[in-house]
Amino acid sequence: MRILIVEDEVKTAAYLRKGLSESGFVVDTAGRGDDGLHLALTQDYDLVVLDVGLPGCDGWTILRSLRQAGRESPVLFLTARDSVPDRVKGLESGADDYLVKPFAFSELLARVRTLLRRNSGRGPGPLQVGDLELDVTRHRAVRGGQRLDLTPKEFALLSLLVRRQGEVLSRTLIAEQVWDMHFDSDTNVVDVAVRRLRGKVDDPFPAKLIHTVRGLGYVLEER
Ligand code: CA
Repeated sequence: MRILIVEDEVKTAAYLRKGLSESGFVVDTAGRGDDGLHLALTQDYDLVVLDVGLPGCDGWTILRSLRQAGRESPVLFLTARDSVPDRVKGLESGADDYLVKPFAFSELLARVRTLLRRNSGRGPGPLQVGDLELDVTRHRAVRGGQRLDLTPKEFALLSLLVRRQGEVLSRTLIAEQVWDMHFDSDTNVVDVAVRRLRGKVDDPFPAKLIHTVRGLGYVLEER
């Protein structure tokens, strides 16, 4: 999951970058509004964190430009304390959520995760890898024309693997993204879940999609 932070206060930007990176996100930062807008228009982000007052161009302008360009990534606004007009203006411009400065990082992280979860059902059509098809909106997984009977956790795990197909995902990252928890040492729960998922997704079919990368984690891809 990639997040863009547009924030001109160097300390705040560094604090957010560190916290979000440690939480498993890939983070880009921009200290100027115009640079942030350029990044947001040319790269793909799952979420954008926007400060309001920025050199170059302000947060509102960035949000409006993104929506006009058809960019639907959720936007979390950072606004000054008790700035009601800002909130109203943000709502009208299509912001998805607000956080009033100063805020606790845990609060920001909770909002970010909620927005990402809410947004994961959007997007165009089913995801496909080989003969596996995943319809996130309808919570449906089909392989070789056969509907797979998955538990909600298995579905979440499979959609993470499919969404990031070709990318080796560590057990820690999987635990965090699927269970929303940190497993300091015992990531056995991930191995157990992957084994069960394989039983449904791979075992009945000749071509295997889920692969173990020793010492690193798991990857889903056609080989
Ligand atoms: Ca600012």
